[in-house]
Amino acid sequence: MMKKEMLLRKSLFQSSLLLNRKGLNHGATGNLSCRNDNGFIITPSGVSLENLDSNSMVEIGFNGEIINSKSNYKPSSEWLFHRDIYAAKDDIHAIVHTHSVFSSTLSVIGESIPPFHYMIAVAGGDSIRCSDYALFGSQELSNNIIIAMEQRKACLISNHGMIAIGKDLNEAINIAIEVEHLAQVYVQAKMIGTPKLLNDNQMLEVIDKFKNYGEWSKD
Ligand SMILES: [Zn+2]
Repeated sequence: MMKKEMLLRKSLFQSSLLLNRKGLNHGATGNLSCRNDNGFIITPSGVSLENLDSNSMVEIGFNGEIINSKSNYKPSSEWLFHRDIYAAKDDIHAIVHTHSVFSSTLSVIGESIPPFHYMIAVAGGDSIRCSDYALFGSQELSNNIIIAMEQRKACLISNHGMIAIGKDLNEAINIAIEVEHLAQVYVQAKMIGTPKLLNDNQMLEVIDKFKNYGEWSKD
């Protein structure tokens, strides 16, 4: 069990570096977590990347109690929606939250991303919803996120950023990278014209094909 905890802490640290390299997070913004046996392990609150390591991650229980903090760091101030997503979705073991530029840009408009590109299905349906606004870290925001995440593996958060989730960190990160790419293309497309949307049948076909692959493919 200790070995599993150390491995999760290490992958959270490496994933934080990766998200920064990919330009999805800056400074101490955004947070990520992995489910563990008695709760989940999450990045700390307000710690910049230069000061981060595996021991900075904080393990919390499903009631929000700190189980294991190897440092004096507090858990991310946004831990509540992580807890609620794990409680709502048994098959989800990792959560990535970013304030990345293009997802945040669209979140300010407050609209869901429609099926303008077939890869929208990577989030599990024919749209990537935008949750209603509420104060960061609040129960109200967490409730809004759970609604936007129904049958989905990603959503935008109004006037804030985005969330991607997966069966492991690898999947959650791949979805986050794809959602940010889609957000960039959508913003750019809207600058030069009106994006042509795929219809219900076309999207059902894509969603079906993704299911048959078992994993989404970049083809
Ligand atoms: Zn945030």
